[in-house]
Amino acid sequence: MILFGLDTEKKPDRDPLWDKIFALTMEEAVKAQAEADRQTDKILAEGRALSVYEKSALNRLRLQVELRKEEAALAEQRRLRDQARQALEQPQPQPQPGSWEELKAFADTFPRREAGQQSHPVLAHLRQRLGASQATRPQVRARLVSTGRVEPVTKANFQALLTAAIQRPWGLLTQAYVNKLAEHVTVMKPTIDPRYRRALDESALWSKVLVFSGDKDDQGKPDKGENYRREFEKAWTSIVELVDGEVLDLVGLPDVRVYTAEAGIFGSRPAFYDERIKTIFFKSACVAAERIRHEFGHHIEDQGPVEIWFGLASMLNWLSEGRPLNPSEEGSTREPTYAINLDVGGYVGVTKLPYTASYYADAGTEVLSTSLEDDVLGNLADYIDWPADMRSQPARPAGRLGNCRCGPELAYLLLHALRPGEMRDAGFASPALL
Ligand SMILES: [Zn+2]
Repeated sequence: MILFGLDTEKKPDRDPLWDKIFALTMEEAVKAQAEADRQTDKILAEGRALSVYEKSALNRLRLQVELRKEEAALAEQRRLRDQARQALEQPQPQPQPGSWEELKAFADTFPRREAGQQSHPVLAHLRQRLGASQATRPQVRARLVSTGRVEPVTKANFQALLTAAIQRPWGLLTQAYVNKLAEHVTVMKPTIDPRYRRALDESALWSKVLVFSGDKDDQGKPDKGENYRREFEKAWTSIVELVDGEVLDLVGLPDVRVYTAEAGIFGSRPAFYDERIKTIFFKSACVAAERIRHEFGHHIEDQGPVEIWFGLASMLNWLSEGRPLNPSEEGSTREPTYAINLDVGGYVGVTKLPYTASYYADAGTEVLSTSLEDDVLGNLADYIDWPADMRSQPARPAGRLGNCRCGPELAYLLLHALRPGEMRDAGFASPALL
């Protein structure tokens, strides 16, 4: 296409060249423009100026390239939109019942149970957790019987986990196991994993705390949380004593955020744990070592191997003997609770029923958290209602611990949750599901 070398200064009203430029495809226009640029450089190098006609042609060519590019982008947008519309109109293939993919849909539509209804079977909650782990919950992990290692539950092994969970009878500790357990709790002592000695010295948990309280200290200066530091150090010291280093390695340290009471995220709660972001949230006025231990208990239940949570939830379910859920109680619980007969299960959390029997939408429990809060592990021999002939203590008041039928199972779950290494070394079989 000849654009240059036209010596006229006058542009005709309608030049056929203009029509030719209009008709160029993008590739042709780009090519023609490159050629025109080369010609322009040459003309300028020769010390000559472009004629009005040449300038105009060059501009027209540039516009044409832009126009064609825009058209191409619009066409691509239209293509993508049509593609998306077609995908929507096509019937989505339904995941196979019982498949890994179906568990996600199962979790998405899992209905809440309210007071007056029965709780879901714990197995349904296990399926719910496996489904939610594909979207919102942390990865579900389980301890393998074969290696003792904690591994992720995936598409490849979830069926084996579910089968084992179906077949696991609740509360079948042999008498020999219970005897051995009762003996063990009288000799066990708080120990600190030497690897955590350094973490202890460095107040590792405190280093994870961010204070957003906006409170003022005694001098009226912004509070940086030094008031709470002692509480975190106190809590961390006892956590390191109570919990095996391998569990601390496994669950890692949660993040901690401290806010003013007005932060609006707490409702009536003094603190809470968000398992999705592994973070403990505290109201600044409610920071206390016991509460820190409590929330750390939730952290271990949610991030530790799934068979511990499964055991604890099964225990609560079993203790409620199929009775409908109780409504929450103003001032003590925020969720429906398992209808646990106090005479039967009074030892659960010992002094904190009905709170310990709270039934959450994901069946997370308050058992490990309150046990860690109350240092049940440090006083297991006293807290657990061992069969009568093993009691070292005089009979406890009826209604709190009396007539309990599954005390040793709580010890079994707590010890395997917090001190699996010690239990392994002492020759106890674990509640593993894989
Ligand atoms: Zn709690």
